[in-house]
Order: sequence, then structure tokens, then C-alpha cells
Amino acid sequence: MESMNVLNSKYEPVIGLEIHAQMNTASKAFCGCSTDFHSSPNTNICPVCLGYPGALPALNEMLVDSILKMGIATSCRVREESIFARKNYFYPDLTKGYQITQFETPICHGGFLKINLKNNETKKIGITRIHMEEDAGKSIHDFHDDSSLIDFNRCGVPLIEIVSEPDMNSVDEATRFLQKIKQTLVYLEINDGNMEEGSLRCDANISVRIKGDKKLGTRTEIKNLNSFKNVSDAVSAEIKRQISLIESGEKVSYNTMTYNAKDKKTTATRSKEEAHDYRYFPEPDLVKVKVTKEKIENIKSILPELPEQKVMRYVTEFKLPSADAEEISHDKDFAGYFERVVSELKLKNENNYRTAGNILRTDVRKVLNDRKISISEFTVSAKVLAGLAESVTSGSISASASREVFNEILFGNTDDEQIKILENSLKKYSQVSDTGKIESLVKKILEENPEEVKRYKIGEKKLAGFFVGKIMQESKGKANPKIVNELLIKNLED
Ligand SMILES: [Zn+2]
Repeated sequence: MESMNVLNSKYEPVIGLEIHAQMNTASKAFCGCSTDFHSSPNTNICPVCLGYPGALPALNEMLVDSILKMGIATSCRVREESIFARKNYFYPDLTKGYQITQFETPICHGGFLKINLKNNETKKIGITRIHMEEDAGKSIHDFHDDSSLIDFNRCGVPLIEIVSEPDMNSVDEATRFLQKIKQTLVYLEINDGNMEEGSLRCDANISVRIKGDKKLGTRTEIKNLNSFKNVSDAVSAEIKRQISLIESGEKVSYNTMTYNAKDKKTTATRSKEEAHDYRYFPEPDLVKVKVTKEKIENIKSILPELPEQKVMRYVTEFKLPSADAEEISHDKDFAGYFERVVSELKLKNENNYRTAGNILRTDVRKVLNDRKISISEFTVSAKVLAGLAESVTSGSISASASREVFNEILFGNTDDEQIKILENSLKKYSQVSDTGKIESLVKKILEENPEEVKRYKIGEKKLAGFFVGKIMQESKGKANPKIVNELLIKNLED
């Protein structure tokens, strides 16, 4: 067989995603039970979510509001009237024997989201439909060898299912789309984006075809992917599997697959040809969902700022480069912290905004990554960080000393402690702009490195960087780099 690289350029994958997102309403979709993930097993249950005969469901209005937010944010059309359906199937963790969902009339349909691609272009990914449904319970198989446990707390928890068009043509595009969905849900404050706890899960539909072909190949569906890594690994494993089949003259069959992260392989769990008909029929116990124009206007008016709007505002209001604005607003809470720092700045100007952004993107980000914490667990106050940013912009400390000061501030436990550390370290690292002092440093370094001076003078100009490094080191990062540069060139060119 030809190498995978050659094959990857010969074939084109076609990917669609079905994303299940748990809505963070306080109570379940059709009863008053709590949706708390951390409750003890089988404590958040009642006759409605367990499906006792005669128990009647009633729709949680908050679920409708939540799905409308997502629908409107993704430019979907909203149905004035939609109904619920029963999807019948036997499963031990769904005692009713059916799931309440929407089938023929999803409340939102025909929208899109734009994703940013590697080459800075954007691509529109179609959203076929978004509908409401309820979650099932959870079977736990790994406590006992000979029996399974069931927790019904999740039964009836409100979900929305977002079904995309098969518009993605690479693993990268699929993960970017999932990221964008997650980001939008979190911005709308309707889902916590937590894939580990299962509040965001994804199925992927995949087929491959020879590049340039119009006709779609036979697709398979990988179920229940619960992390970004799993999505990207599983989709690329499935693409490889399908290409190998086709290359060896076999056919891809219409299967449901599961992904095993241990051996990075997808395997068929059931053939879709044998898949049972779910026998959907209209749910007789729930009335039609009606959405008025006023309701839509009302939701639009309370819609929070969305990711693209935030990026645009950062570019226009704070004059941030758009790449910086993207990076900062990627995570809503991180952006919130940035805005608190900005509000603490005494001098509101572009330079301070940009410096604050730089400290966040580099130093703060590094601490979050190293400690594996989120910005909400980051302990340095916005006020202290604003003070640090202003000291850099005003030139009282250099950008490199700023890192040292930042690292010292991290040791402060309270606001007051951090402020004290900031003041002391600013004194310690205060930038030397005294040209006399800096010139003597420059001379010292040049004297110590006569070989390099000779090479510089016969044309090796890039050695300037070497000298600047030495001088900054000698000054413990305190020398004003601009003055160092000027004096260095002056002394070398003499
Ligand atoms: Zn209940």
C-alpha cells in the first residue's frame, strides 16, 4: 500500500458531528428533580423521571430559553411550533422504555457557525438542527464482576443535540468546530463545557472519498467521544481504517463504531443494516412547544456577548492585535479576568492594554498550564496585575524584569501581601535609564569579549544580539534595553 501521506492527499474525509450538551438548568427537563452532578446515586429521582405509570411530564421553560439562545447564536431558524416524540428502545438505564426527544420538528434548524482555520481563513460549518431531549441514567459495570449498578440521577437531565452538516474535511476542522460549539455554549452560560463529567459529548459521522468526487462514501458513526483528544484520535483512526479498506478493494459498511483509546482503534459494535427501528411517535403527554416572536426578541435582547463580538470589541476598544484578542477571548473566564485588569488600570491607554494582554497571554497562561488550574483558581488579583503592567509600560521596569516581579508576586497569599511584594520588587528591579551607568556596562562587556568585537567590526552584525544579552545579564535585567541598544551601536561603530 502507498504511504499514508500519499493516501491522505488522494482521499478526502467528510465529517459531521452530533454534539450532546447538557443544559445547566437547576432542575430536569420534565420534572422538578435536581440536576446536580455530585449528588449521591439515585437521590435526584421521582415518578416522572423514572417513568412510573400515570406520572405526567411538564416541560421546563428554562430548557426552551437555553436552546433558543444556542439557536439564535448560531443563526438558526426557530420553529413557531414543535412537538416532542417518544423514541422507543429498551435499555436498562432508561426505565420508561423510551426517551423523550424531538424528531421531525426540531425547534431550531438551518444555522451555521464559522471556524477559524490554520491559514487564517474562516469556514462556515452548517448546523442542520438543534433539538431538545432528555438524558438516560448511567450503568456502572466496574464495581462488581458479576453485576452492574445503575444510577438514575441523570435520567431526565435536559440535553440539546446539535447536528452539523457534513461540512468538515479534516480532523483539524472537526476539532475546531467542536471547540467553537463548546466556546459558544460556555459564552451563553447554558453549559459548563465539561467533557470529563459528560456534560458535553460527541458522536462523529465519517466517510472518505477520492478528492474531487461529488458523491459521498458510505459513512460510519463513532459514538460517545468525551474529550477533544478522543475526538481527534478516533476520527483520524477511522479515516485511516476506511482508506485501508478501500485501498485493499473492500467496502466500508454502514456501521456504528466505538473507539478504544488504549489501542487507538475503532471497532464496529453493530451494523446499521440491522439497527432496530426506533418507532418514534408523538409524545402524547406533552403539549406543543410554541415560540412567539416576542419570545425570540426577548431572548435576543438578553443574549450575552459572543466570542466574535468580543474579539471585535478588543480590537476596536483596546486596539489589541486580532491574534491577541482571539487568544484572550478563547476562554470566557480568562477574558473576564483581562477585563478586570483593564478596569484596574489607572491610565487607560493602548500601551497599557497591550502590556496587560501580553502578561496574561504569556506569564499568567504559563502558571495556569504548569499548575493545571483554571483562571478562576489563579490567585493574583487583577489590581496587582494592572500595577505590574503599568510599571512595564511606563518604563520603570523592563519587560524581562517584569517576569521576575511576576514570579515574586505569585508568593503573595493575600491582596495586601501581593501589593507589598509588587512595590518591593519594583524598587529592586527598577530599570536603569542612566546613560552613564549603562555606558560603563557596555564598555565592560566589549572589553571582556574582544574576539566578538573584532568579528562584529568585519561584518558579523548579528553579534549585536549577543552583546545585548550579556549587558542585560550583567545589569540583572534592569538596564533599559532601548538605551542599551543605542549605546552599544555607538560604542561598536566608533
Ligand atoms: Zn424527577
